[in-house]
Amino acid sequence: MKKIQMVDLKGQYEEIKETINASVLNVIESTAFINGPEVHNFQKNLEDYLDVKHVIPCANGTDALQIAMMGLGLEPGDEVITADFTFAATVEVIALLRLTPVLVDVEPDTFNIDIDAIKKAITPKTKAIVPVHLFGQCANMDAIMEIANEHNLFVIEDNAQAIGATYTSGNGTKAKAGTIGHVASTSFFPSKNLGCYGDGGAIFTNDDELAHTIRGIVNHGMYRRYYHDVVGVNSRLDSIQATILNTKLSRLDEYNNRRKEAARKYDEAFKGQEHIVTPFRNGADDNHVFHQYTLKVKNTNRDALVQHLNENGIPCGVYYPVPLHNQKAYQDERYNEADFTVTNQLVKEVISLPMHTELDDEQIAFITNTIIEFVNG
Ligand SMILES: *Cc1c(COP(=O)(O)O)cnc(C)c1O
Repeated sequence: MKKIQMVDLKGQYEEIKETINASVLNVIESTAFINGPEVHNFQKNLEDYLDVKHVIPCANGTDALQIAMMGLGLEPGDEVITADFTFAATVEVIALLRLTPVLVDVEPDTFNIDIDAIKKAITPKTKAIVPVHLFGQCANMDAIMEIANEHNLFVIEDNAQAIGATYTSGNGTKAKAGTIGHVASTSFFPSKNLGCYGDGGAIFTNDDELAHTIRGIVNHGMYRRYYHDVVGVNSRLDSIQATILNTKLSRLDEYNNRRKEAARKYDEAFKGQEHIVTPFRNGADDNHVFHQYTLKVKNTNRDALVQHLNENGIPCGVYYPVPLHNQKAYQDERYNEADFTVTNQLVKEVISLPMHTELDDEQIAFITNTIIEFVNG
């Protein structure tokens, strides 16, 4: 059996090696390293793929979130509601901009931000909601947009984990994740569903004026060369990453399909297992692109299972082991443990299995058999 990896970047590279190597060499020969034609091509290709008016590439997914918030003109003291159960980058940039993060609980089945918890957290200071499409599954955007419209709030989708997912709204309309709110961010970190070979990120929006503002912010607040109208940042996607992303974007649907196929095989193998809860699908099949395949284990020592898997050569991950409201940097006396019952439980039960485009049946069988034996043992 091939060695099992959490993410098999090498296996994926082998398949596209010739194209990637030639395109990277081309960029080097051209010496157009910054803002070269490949960056522009990628921007256009991603706009077409997502069916969104504006893609603004930037240096990473954390910057993308920060820049989106800067572009909306949020001000210190404005409250921004986001999920307690996500990667820290989401809350980090809120705090960094001196906005006030308001963490709320998530749903026990989808792991995504809880709609009633959002409603409960809204105050006159609330300015924005940041849903995270966690593990590749779209949050309940119908309900989130409805709340946002009612209270005049911005919606910033953190789409770092769900690029290529398609959200089907209650009225049947379909839209790519990241094109539904006012603005969205994504990450091209190597292990993401669309990953480059270094750091990268992008912001998406259908709002022309916001796109213009953001294009200036990513470039030192310049709208005319050497005239700085606003305080900006330096955040760029480089041409080498862009050319790699162009190759991989043309395969993104196939890559996501392979992830979904692996997820189906995992589901099948765990069928009927009383200690294992397989990932819940909220709606249509293309609503979830399985950035992670995350189980909840019941009546099982999760940490002992992690150790057992590692001892058997099976990498796995615990995303995330600590609720954000309990992280030293983000504690706030206004939080009440009773408002975070779901997240507090999830951090003890979740385990993410190897998930990538190169998993084969033999590996999946070995992984699932090892887990099933352990939880029943
Ligand atoms: C990866 C990730 C980010 C940050 O992306 P970077 O490119 O690593 O800065 C932000 N939010 C979520 C939910 C992520 O998974």
